[in-house]
Amino acid sequence: MKRRFFLKAATAGLATGAIAAPAIAQSNPEIRWRLTSSFPKSLDTIYGASEVFAKAVADATDNRFRIQVFAAGEIVPGLQAADAVTNGTVEMCHTASYYYVGKDPTFAFGTAIPFGFNQRMIDAWMFNGGGLDMMNDFYKKHGIIAFPAGNTGAQMGGWFRKEIKSVDDLKGLKMRIGGFAGRVLAKVGVVAQQIAGGDIYPALEKGTIDAAEWVGPYDDEKLGFQKVAPYYYYPGWWEGGPMLHNFINIAKWNELPKSYQSIVESASHVANTIMMARYDAGNPGALRRLVAGGAQLRAFPQSVIEACYTAANELYAETAAKNPDFKTILDSVVAFRNDQYLWWQVAEYGYDSGMIRLRART
Ligand code: CA
Repeated sequence: MKRRFFLKAATAGLATGAIAAPAIAQSNPEIRWRLTSSFPKSLDTIYGASEVFAKAVADATDNRFRIQVFAAGEIVPGLQAADAVTNGTVEMCHTASYYYVGKDPTFAFGTAIPFGFNQRMIDAWMFNGGGLDMMNDFYKKHGIIAFPAGNTGAQMGGWFRKEIKSVDDLKGLKMRIGGFAGRVLAKVGVVAQQIAGGDIYPALEKGTIDAAEWVGPYDDEKLGFQKVAPYYYYPGWWEGGPMLHNFINIAKWNELPKSYQSIVESASHVANTIMMARYDAGNPGALRRLVAGGAQLRAFPQSVIEACYTAANELYAETAAKNPDFKTILDSVVAFRNDQYLWWQVAEYGYDSGMIRLRART
């Protein structure tokens, strides 16, 4: 009996082995993809998130799945990255969804809306609040599936040539600021302008514009704005925790073996974590150097914040009335944000505000 059982098992083992070999080879194919980033290499934290992602994918597949990263402009301009994914020019891109609000304002929710989530909250909404499923239902219309892949954390409110003491100081102010934030500020009198990163400094220097927002200390330091617009305002209420994404062409995604899909998803999580960590680690030193170099920190007056909050809510109501996708996701975001702050005002805020006061004593 024993011998017969052994033979049976051995035969079964051989048979399994004979079938399994080609199946394994098939599940680990050699694949090459191209990723176009919406960002230049000079934004090393954001562009670098794609390198972190591509390396994690290559390492997990013994280099069988390799994703080559291209900076903005090498294949397509940064703001055309999503189109390049939709039409299959590239398999994927790393981008900010709110660049595409001109196609549909619903794109804004993937990255940030004024007075939206902070970084922790957008992670919670995306991964555990149904947000990513809702966004992917929407992106499907553009042939895209998305995975969160980075965050800058709360941004700064930007650089101003003159101080802002009331809402009146915003009237006629020419500011480099894009997307939804520009439309909110337009409601309180700002003349919003879209200017590429490299052109901001000369525009501020010449006085063609009065103010400009960029990112936060780590990136702003490289551009030297404190020399031409010394008032450095906070917080950037239009970007409390803007999230970046890997956008992937759905047809290309469906061609991947399940294991590679899982690796892409996991590697996106790695990029999501590492990018935020790099900003958090880099910002304090950059802020110190900026202040030593002449930057003057200013908080936006509460009256300005409240006027902008009212303007943002008006814009959301107007947009939701015309766009059912926008309304569905806005309702989810607002409810989730309100619940988050219910919790935040207890332990999270209590801990941080307590530590900030203790630090001032040492
Ligand atoms: Ca910004």
